[in-house]
Amino acid sequence: MMLVIVLGFVVPFVLGADTGCLNLSGTCQEDNLPCSGGYVSGLCSGHASRRCCLPTGSGGCSNVNIISRAQWGARSPTHVSYISVPVSEFFIHHTESPSCSSITECSARVRGIQNYHMDSRGWSDIGYSFLVGEDGNVYEGRGWSHVGAHTAGYNSRSFAASMIGSYMNHLPNSKALTAVKNLIACGVQLGKITSSYRLFGHRDAGQTNCPGDALYAEIQTWPHYSHGNP
Ligand SMILES: [Zn+2]
Repeated sequence: MMLVIVLGFVVPFVLGADTGCLNLSGTCQEDNLPCSGGYVSGLCSGHASRRCCLPTGSGGCSNVNIISRAQWGARSPTHVSYISVPVSEFFIHHTESPSCSSITECSARVRGIQNYHMDSRGWSDIGYSFLVGEDGNVYEGRGWSHVGAHTAGYNSRSFAASMIGSYMNHLPNSKALTAVKNLIACGVQLGKITSSYRLFGHRDAGQTNCPGDALYAEIQTWPHYSHGNP
């Protein structure tokens, strides 16, 4: 027991590992440990499962509750490519599935989407950077560190959030709309997205009706929406 306690203090010193998350007031730790807020990727040195626990009320993401991959039960990616940040484009999608209104329900939906993307599409992971539920939570997909598979031709230079639901004829609820807006603002604060970023819907970049007519009309009223080609 004594040895374990001593090693716990000494090893980080010996390895020179810092426990802070860049300039944010979170803690770098293994992401299967309890975290009173949410985990954010890309802020800690070391291997991928060592991530920043940002407690609620701290740092740039205090108004965003991110459900980590470990929390929703993600499979490991079969391959990852690192994205160069900050990016200057952000895309909005919808999942064209039923919506969800609790962590349990949304986590199951996200696991199903990951299975579809990996098993039927043959992708290395769930395609989206993040997903947003009508429970008001953000579900971490490929996160802020990895290139996604969401918007053909733009994946290596953008992030994307997919609203869980089908938004042809109605909007996501206000909790989900607030969550995605706060997520984008959080990305700017974390230095992952430029402050002059341009916002698009998926259909601006390809032949698709994503993110649905109703949601597409909504995002065109947001300040960073960019008419014209991405
Ligand atoms: Zn889409």
